Amino acid sequence: MTLNEIFDNMDWGTAPENDKLALLWIKENNSTFEHFIDGKFTKSKTYFKTKNPANNQFLANIAVGSKSDVNLAVASAIKAQKKWVQIGCHRRSRYLYAIARLMQKHSRLFAVLETIDNGKPIRESRDIDIPLAIRHFYYHAGAAQLMETNLQGYEPIGVCGQIIPWNFPLLMLAWKIAPAIAMGNTVVLKPAEYTSLTAMLFAQICIEANIPKGVINIVTGEGSTGSFIAEHKQINKIAFTGSTEVGRKIRSETAGTGKSLTLELGGKSPYIVFDDADIDSAIEGLVDSIWLNQGQVCCAGSRLLVHETISEQFYVKLRKRMKRLRVGNPLDKSIDMGAIVDRKQLSTISKLVKENGHEGDCFQPNTSMPSKGFYYPPTLITKMEPSADLMQKEIFGPILVSTTFRTPNEAIELANNTKYGLAASIWTENINLALDLVPKIHCGVVWINSVNQFDAAAGFGGRKESGFGREGGSEGLLAYVRPRVQTLPLKAQKRFKKTKYKADSKNYLDKTLKLYVGGKQVRPDSGYSTPIYGPKGFITHVADGNRKDIRNAVEAAHKAITWGKASGHLKAQILFYLAENLDTRSSEFVENIVSTTGISKELAKKEVETSISRLFSYAAWADKFDGLVHNVPIRGVTLAMNEPIGVVGAICPEEHPLLGFISIVGPLIAAGNRCVIIPSAPYPNIAVSFYQILETSDVPAGVINIITGDEGDLIKTLSEHHDVASIWYFGAGKNSGKIEKLSAHSLKRTWVNNHKTRDWINNGEGKEFLRNATDVKNIWIPYGE
Ligand code: NAD
Repeated sequence: MTLNEIFDNMDWGTAPENDKLALLWIKENNSTFEHFIDGKFTKSKTYFKTKNPANNQFLANIAVGSKSDVNLAVASAIKAQKKWVQIGCHRRSRYLYAIARLMQKHSRLFAVLETIDNGKPIRESRDIDIPLAIRHFYYHAGAAQLMETNLQGYEPIGVCGQIIPWNFPLLMLAWKIAPAIAMGNTVVLKPAEYTSLTAMLFAQICIEANIPKGVINIVTGEGSTGSFIAEHKQINKIAFTGSTEVGRKIRSETAGTGKSLTLELGGKSPYIVFDDADIDSAIEGLVDSIWLNQGQVCCAGSRLLVHETISEQFYVKLRKRMKRLRVGNPLDKSIDMGAIVDRKQLSTISKLVKENGHEGDCFQPNTSMPSKGFYYPPTLITKMEPSADLMQKEIFGPILVSTTFRTPNEAIELANNTKYGLAASIWTENINLALDLVPKIHCGVVWINSVNQFDAAAGFGGRKESGFGREGGSEGLLAYVRPRVQTLPLKAQKRFKKTKYKADSKNYLDKTLKLYVGGKQVRPDSGYSTPIYGPKGFITHVADGNRKDIRNAVEAAHKAITWGKASGHLKAQILFYLAENLDTRSSEFVENIVSTTGISKELAKKEVETSISRLFSYAAWADKFDGLVHNVPIRGVTLAMNEPIGVVGAICPEEHPLLGFISIVGPLIAAGNRCVIIPSAPYPNIAVSFYQILETSDVPAGVINIITGDEGDLIKTLSEHHDVASIWYFGAGKNSGKIEKLSAHSLKRTWVNNHKTRDWINNGEGKEFLRNATDVKNIWIPYGE
């Protein structure tokens, strides 16, 4: 036998991790686990069984959380929260540190429990899940300590309801609990039904660490327990990780309740390989990308896009590598792929491949798999049409689908051809090419020549139907605090009485303000207009915009996409120019505001002056609202870049018809968004007449569009429009809930006033606005050859 033949035929022996201690721990707990409420374990009326997916054997009984269990947990969390804030940042930091230390001490037990409960290879739970979960508590121990320094002007949100999935049970728990309690919130968390065991060990650690009772509550159960949390009236924030379907439901259920919400949902992330990539590395990356955790990973690179010129060579190598992947007992340290989490998930995967696998060339190596338990072989389906079901649906299993591309532009088009927007991985030796692609791919995380990099210091999260909000890093902390802004009761502004409109017969001048769409003044589709009256009578007509006008405005905004790529300097120049032109015409605006709203000249002057100053502020921010370089433990950098959200629809406050409009348009365009603005309902003429200033200030066509009309109708079209990425609502109608509900289908980000207002003169600008106008993209760039 030659040396080469020896290497070719060498195989791994078995190296099973011992599960004795883990099974003993389960036994010591009578194979039954209760809810962790108010610092102690609380009995339940009903239980379900949790099994080891690797052999389908019973592991333990898990309590099913009822409505009253959730109520008890929330009551305890409410009671604990005030004191948890009062003990201060340093004391909280010490508690988080204690949790991290204790988790570290129990890390082996955690790893084995995770593997027998979830089916993931011990290599992964031991080297990825558990160390990262511990790292989260260390990082956030620091975040708690520094809260007063770094987050001045912010306060905790209150009680957080947290619902997590089964694919990274302890890690998701850490992602949720650590930042929440670090920032002074208390929590009620529900683990996923298949995987509650490590959460129970974590609860025991909370007792050992003396965490004040009520700060952390864990209620186990199924979807119904989750919905009791989502709909609970006294919970202030919901953080959900799971499927897009349930995320949408939660968005809809929480609409109008004033709860803050973050959603980390599904994905169908592209894995893009260019012809100049280091092919062997790209193949190994792919193994980690799609076969980690049997492909049950939200950000799995499940859509392989390969440069056409190397595709055949790449597929040959990949198939060869797949033949060597070992599927089997997850406790075996030399196993690549373990068990699928449950029989149900296994049958979903098998059915999808059986029914749709013929859409391409389906390859499954002849891998040996255990006869008991739930296993599925690594699968590659090439020659897929981009629109094929398997290219679009999240399979959440070890199935890689693939197609080819010819040019970078085609790669971008294919990458974005999905309703999801979670992650992307780009493989090329040309860093310029990789970085050119980064801003063009609509997603929240990009890995260059790497994949599945995570760290507590970097943010993670998606856009489009992958949800909104970030977890981890400084951006993740912001999801657990709120600005300490004083809100005021919202009152609708005065509508002046109608007086009979008489055209001046001697000197007739039509006074009808049109809509402003795509840089032009346009007549409304309806052909109608509405008269506006001030305290002294008729002032002007404004156009009655309708659905069609909103659609035209969104289309115009969509076309103005280059605004998002404009330099900070250019955006600043245009914002300064707007301020300059408003200044030149300030007396005209003062007069208009006085005659329309009836406020004093002095107040109107203040409004115009503040508007000019606000435009200066956003001109200043346009090239200063920087991203960050996160300090993650890799040899490389992780850039957290602020990106525009896209097309944003915004409804202005009724009060301050000029300043309200400027306070919204300023941050949106400074951050590179294009917008469709609905001006103050009773005084729309003020914002509409601003289009004369837009026209003389070099604002590119389509960047700002202004539509007047019935707020209710316009809001509906805006909220349901799939090309509108976010909606801001500051109106006086009770439309916050309506907008959140209507936005649920397309999972838009929303920022609504919940029928409260703010002091727009003294408290109407700053980072809070800019953060709501941006999405953060984390870009991982390793150093070295
Ligand atoms: P799932 O949505 O079915 O369940 C997630 C959690 O929600 C579970 O705890 C479940 O009990 C609970 N739940 C179910 N119905 C509910 C309801 N009506 N109200 C409240 N809670 C409810 O998802 P899953 O099958 O557990 O996890 C897989 C999904 O999670 C995939 O789509 C995956 O992409 C996604 N995921 C996303 C991320 C991310 O960070 N973006 C991370 C992990 C998983």
